[in-house]
Amino acid sequence: TCTIPCEGLAAYFSLYAGGGGGIGRAVCLRFAREGASVSVADICPEAATETLSLLPTKFSEQQHSAHAADVSNIQGVTSLLNKVQSKFFRSPCIAVNSAGITADAFLIKLEEEDFDKVLHVNLKGTFLVCQAVAKALVSSGASNGSIINLSSIVGKTGNIGQANYAASKAGVLGLTMTTAKELARHGIRCNAVLPGFIATSMTSKMPPKVVDKIISMIPMGRMGYPEEVAGVCAFLASDDSKYITGASIEVTGKVQEH
Ligand code: NAD
Repeated sequence: TCTIPCEGLAAYFSLYAGGGGGIGRAVCLRFAREGASVSVADICPEAATETLSLLPTKFSEQQHSAHAADVSNIQGVTSLLNKVQSKFFRSPCIAVNSAGITADAFLIKLEEEDFDKVLHVNLKGTFLVCQAVAKALVSSGASNGSIINLSSIVGKTGNIGQANYAASKAGVLGLTMTTAKELARHGIRCNAVLPGFIATSMTSKMPPKVVDKIISMIPMGRMGYPEEVAGVCAFLASDDSKYITGASIEVTGKVQEH
């Protein structure tokens, strides 16, 4: 079971789906620096292992691990939780859902297969990890937990060429708010982070002209960095946010529009 951290996130045991990616890796590094034990999970084993190799250990009790896992199906998530629990004899009390993909096309050209693929990883994967971690925490009698879901500003605004991605990220917001309401009485919080345009492999393949156009629409005049998303995740995992649940925090360099 979990204990309340006395310094940073020390004594917290955390699980990161998509921890081999740009944002996921920055979150893993930040949490390890704060003193948390980190289990990195990614469909790409090399990416998960590389993240593991970068993680610092501040305390002797800190234990990190890396796991290959596909979160888009229940077998992948069940086996991941089993591996993590049998290795460390406890359940994670922080989970960050960062696994995500895109398959962009205009609505009238969007293939059914690409719609399903994106929904399976981004929405169903987030649901399966939320459910598995919640089940484990509730059955262990833990009195605190924090689940952080990576949605996207696109889930609120929509985006041309991203009907599948926007639908998946809007779904993550509904899932987050419902999870927060259902789990509040167990002391488990669930919040969403909505990044805007962040410099990772997800955005690095975009043509320079498109990048310049997007940046020209950002009042802060630049892309965001994965570390800036990681800082918000660290806040949401820590006791500094212990009265915040069901919230969505935009990390976009913009003033919120309603
Ligand atoms: P990324 O591509 O660098 O990382 C995503 C990671 O998810 C990769 O390591 C990938 O291997 C992993 N992954 C993919 N499918 C998986 C599966 N089925 N099971 C387990 N792992 C899987 O992307 P990123 O920019 O770090 O994005 C992280 C999250 O933030 C995503 O959910 C993304 O949608 C969201 N986001 C990113 C941006 C941005 O501008 N980069 C903006 C808004 C939201």
